[in-house]
Amino acid sequence: MANNPYALFQQAAALFQTDKSRDCEAVALLYQSLYESSFRYRMRPEVAAWLGWAHQNGRGVPKDEYTALMWYRQAVHELRHNDPNSTWIKAHAEHMETQHPQSTPTPNEVHVWGLGRIKIKRGNKYSYSIHDDYAEITITQGAIYDLAVTWLWNDLQQREESRKDSHLPEVLDETLRRDYPLFQLRLERGNGTTFSHRQEGTCYTILAPRAIRFEERISREVIIRHGLRLMKLAAEEYLPKRLKELAERTGLSYSECHISHGNSTLGSFYAYDKHIDLSMHLMKRTPLEIDAVIVHELCHGVEFNHYNEFHYAVERYGGRELALADRHLFDHPTPIDI
Ligand SMILES: [Zn+2]
Repeated sequence: MANNPYALFQQAAALFQTDKSRDCEAVALLYQSLYESSFRYRMRPEVAAWLGWAHQNGRGVPKDEYTALMWYRQAVHELRHNDPNSTWIKAHAEHMETQHPQSTPTPNEVHVWGLGRIKIKRGNKYSYSIHDDYAEITITQGAIYDLAVTWLWNDLQQREESRKDSHLPEVLDETLRRDYPLFQLRLERGNGTTFSHRQEGTCYTILAPRAIRFEERISREVIIRHGLRLMKLAAEEYLPKRLKELAERTGLSYSECHISHGNSTLGSFYAYDKHIDLSMHLMKRTPLEIDAVIVHELCHGVEFNHYNEFHYAVERYGGRELALADRHLFDHPTPIDI
């Protein structure tokens, strides 16, 4: 359903017909449908034409005849090869051509329902950056600025989908909780205008701006980034200290400890200078599993390869239970995200 462009388009059309107060929502569905349909030839022209119609009438977007014409042109262009019932689109396009609408400056900023505040700049190629309460998009000269919105929509959606193992709830609010043994994460609406955080022991709370809209994709992305940043802080506080303790207890040596962002490798030992990398994603693991990864890496100081001798060493230095945990982690690589 969420990825069905035709269903999104139908929902949008229905919203336009019910109540003007839901126009922004309808346009957001069109943006989403436009992206989803970009590889499905038949839907896209109709969606583009509806965006033209929305701009022509100022329904959920700025009233902008020039942008409307651009969308109608796009729709007609895509109908060239396949034209069953598009006379209404062509009629609109021809009507708009006779009006000769002049280009208006691209708005510096738009607010898109479900996505958030977007600043728009013109440049050489498409790019975007995420800030605490807005995204900035660069689009090429002459491109329809709405197209940038659909690309951003898609990029953020794909990012969320790629974090499939522990993604955020569909409606994000103060109920966000992560309860790992050595790291807990909370989310609260704060009183300020920017993001900050509070720490109580191993519990970290993201304090979101007072005016945040939790349902918007930009906010969701920012919250994930702040969550990861806090997990890194927790990792920097716990892991180097624990590594030092276990090195002293086992008598195994290393030079330095770096905390990495890596999510596919929990730990690495570098033979050339004996430094150890530990992933901040270890903070989602049990104390035993963390110790297992640390002892595993320390053992690489005496046994470089994963031969039997290596596993005997892990058991000798860490004990049987830890060796089993190490074996399990080694066979089951870890997932990403908060
Ligand atoms: Zn190893």
